[in-house]
Amino acid sequence: MKVLSSGLPVGEVVVNEDTRPFWEGAADGRLVLPRCHRCGTVIWYPRHLCSNCGSTEADWFEASGRGTVYSFTVVHNGEGAYAEATPYVIAYVELEEGPRVLTNLIGEPDSWSVGQAVSAVFDRDSDGEQALLRFVAAEKQPLK
Ligand code: ZN
Repeated sequence: MKVLSSGLPVGEVVVNEDTRPFWEGAADGRLVLPRCHRCGTVIWYPRHLCSNCGSTEADWFEASGRGTVYSFTVVHNGEGAYAEATPYVIAYVELEEGPRVLTNLIGEPDSWSVGQAVSAVFDRDSDGEQALLRFVAAEKQPLK
């Protein structure tokens, strides 16, 4: 399992036709999400199937990357590859476009609060090939 620049590990990423636009955007440092062509719902996790109306037609767009902390917890006893990354933060971030994303917050574990503004970053491995969506406090610079 790889460890990314945040110090958090990442499992193998499987890219398929349903998720390819998301991962191609991530590689470029852009948060690209599907929006239902029929009802306008922004879909998370990335796929063509709308969780609201069942349509399988989605248009992909570049999201703002802005969100707020909906809920979070600080993990002190991680399992497996995460054991060496403690303490770390697991959170739901509510994106400006609507979806709530299960993710990690990158920064001091004791510095977070519900409702806090955050910005999307793409946490990369040392060769820059793998980029995973995580979030930092809104005033912080993104990871490169
Ligand atoms: Zn829909």
